[in-house]
Amino acid sequence: MKHRLIITIDGPAGAGKTTMARLLAVKLDYLYLDTGAMYRAITLKAMNMGLDLNDEKALVKLARDTKMRLNFKSKKIRSREVTANVHYLAGILGVREVMWRFQRKIGEKGGIVADGRDMGTVVFPMADIKFYLEAKSTERAKRRQKDFSQLERKVILKDLEKEILARDRKDKGRKIAPLKKAKDSIVIDTTALSIPQVLGAMFRVIASLPAKGEAGEAV
Ligand code: C5P
Repeated sequence: MKHRLIITIDGPAGAGKTTMARLLAVKLDYLYLDTGAMYRAITLKAMNMGLDLNDEKALVKLARDTKMRLNFKSKKIRSREVTANVHYLAGILGVREVMWRFQRKIGEKGGIVADGRDMGTVVFPMADIKFYLEAKSTERAKRRQKDFSQLERKVILKDLEKEILARDRKDKGRKIAPLKKAKDSIVIDTTALSIPQVLGAMFRVIASLPAKGEAGEAV
């Protein structure tokens, strides 16, 4: 590999983006950029400040006035309450513009694995490799339930699946930077795959560095 790549991983919640992005970044000694954490953090801040989540002006001002650092340790940004409210901020152009600027600045020199919803489509359209991970919603709900049991929360699987599907709808249906496959993305369905299997598939792509693939190309 000649240069430090920009690798993007997009897809719906629970498809394995974060797990895979983290592992890839460690193995390649790249930076891992969790853009979902950015939208979560600004949402948590707005909630803590008691802002009206329908007040776009106030939310854009908040985003512009917030200094961002890459250090997302907080468990609170993963709560179901934050998860349910992220769409308010993620749907506002002014908020996204602030995020985009920050994300591009971090990624411009390469050596990055960025995960989110619009990494390959909007933020890094020139990325060297674009992955799109997906999985059946029942499997994604199961994975989410495992995350929650670590936090000792009793979460009903059916409710989690409903929440995930509702979030998919919002992320795919919004006007600005909706979740969709970039034309040149490499799609991996992780439903029946183990973590090492997904990692192996990704590494095969990285090792071969193909000319940008066909939309919907399956691995
Ligand atoms: O990936 P994660 O589940 O942490 O993302 C939380 C939410 O943040 C998503 O459901 C989506 O609404 C928003 N998001 C986004 N664009 C990104 C990353 C996340 O709109 N690049």
